[in-house]
Amino acid sequence: MKKKLNVSGKKRMKLTPQRMAIFEYLDGNRSHPSANDVYKAVIERFPTMSFATVYNTMDMLKTKGMVLELSIDPDKKRFDPNPVPHHHLICVHCKKIVDVHRDFSLDLSEEERGDYEIIGNHVDFYGVCKTCSKKDRKEEREK
Ligand code: ZN
Ligand code: MN
Repeated sequence: MKKKLNVSGKKRMKLTPQRMAIFEYLDGNRSHPSANDVYKAVIERFPTMSFATVYNTMDMLKTKGMVLELSIDPDKKRFDPNPVPHHHLICVHCKKIVDVHRDFSLDLSEEERGDYEIIGNHVDFYGVCKTCSKKDRKEEREK
């Protein structure tokens, strides 16, 4: 990811220590963090870091195509720094997102495709994660 920063885009990003900390947190991160999650993680090392810096950096990475913005959670934007095309499995309660790496061989008929050239697809699976279903059962018992 860091290597890509120098080659992608016409304008090079200034690699401030704050930005480096954000990149390091995102590198290999599969938790699909929100800007606030990133902020909370990075502020431990950089107590002077402002939320605006995190927000703007995420926005810039999004513009450069280095992170994907996910619209799964209407309350907060989530980001995906995993550059490999993949699908998602989402807990409808806690909004935990797990990566699904499988080629489902989805295809459109010529009629559906029309004059589009298909470049990809993305499937969202919905479910209830183990932690949430345990919690549900506990609440049931306590009723
Ligand atoms: Zn859950
Ligand atoms: Mn993902």
